[in-house]
Amino acid sequence: NLSTTTVLNNGVSMPIFGLGVYKAEDGEEVKQAVEAALEAGYRLIDTASFYKNEAGVGEAIKASGIPREELFITTKVWNDQQGYESTLAAFEESRTKLGLESIDLYLIHWPIKGKYKETWRALEKLYKEGKVRAIGVSNFKAHHIEDLLSESEIVPAVNQIELHPRLTQEEDRAYCIEKGIKVEAWSPLMRGRLFDEPLLMDIAEKHGKTTAQVILRWNVQHQIITIPKSVKKQRIIENSNIFDFELTAEEMKAIDGLNQNIRTGMDPDEVS
Ligand code: NAD
Repeated sequence: NLSTTTVLNNGVSMPIFGLGVYKAEDGEEVKQAVEAALEAGYRLIDTASFYKNEAGVGEAIKASGIPREELFITTKVWNDQQGYESTLAAFEESRTKLGLESIDLYLIHWPIKGKYKETWRALEKLYKEGKVRAIGVSNFKAHHIEDLLSESEIVPAVNQIELHPRLTQEEDRAYCIEKGIKVEAWSPLMRGRLFDEPLLMDIAEKHGKTTAQVILRWNVQHQIITIPKSVKKQRIIENSNIFDFELTAEEMKAIDGLNQNIRTGMDPDEVS
């Protein structure tokens, strides 16, 4: 069910399914989306300072009355905030906007060359001070993680990467598993570009499910944390109804086979 969790490398439990809020407008839009999600049983919310909607997310959390310890809130340090002191300052800003004492998962949004190691040192400090329950990275390829690990104390708990049936990331997934790093999928629905894919439609029909639900179920069965975005109540509920059916091993393989290494977002090696 929606409270299904995965255990991170530091023993912290993280829900395997949650709501992404990229491009949800601060204020009413994001507030209503988060409220609808929490009402539907979501407990993981994924935001970022870059999304400029942490305040609205925070308001929805407060209004929900759900005990803090039942929620799992992720936010991220943006590219131009990277560096040691500036990350510490960015964290305080995010925490204040969210209105939270502590953050459950704090991520480095992109691997900015020459900056991400210093940024990681700041995350390690925040972690040791108990201000964040887990720290991780986003958009790190295996070589970025190798480089990070060569000079860090703490192994990232999570790597959040673009991942969907057209970009299955098998190599980086295998690498992360080997290092004890959980993989989290961003743009799991490829931003809506997969809904008329014939194989997915066929599998969906067999299970009496939607293509969105089939894709998200494929994530979960691969033990990939997934955070589909929608601001529409109906779709928020639809996306969460994936714990009452199971894809067969053949269906899982067939979906894996849709990979074409196509990105919708930036290549992490090209971000600066
Ligand atoms: P997504 O793949 O979740 O697709 C979202 C879009 O799909 C929505 O805007 C909506 O139009 C459509 N949609 C959602 N559910 C639907 C349904 N049931 N039926 C029909 N259409 C539906 O894309 P995303 O928002 O890019 O990714 C999800 C989350 O991942 C983001 O909100 C954000 O939290 C995170 N993210 C992180 C990074 C990063 O660099 N770390 C980058 C992009 C996104």
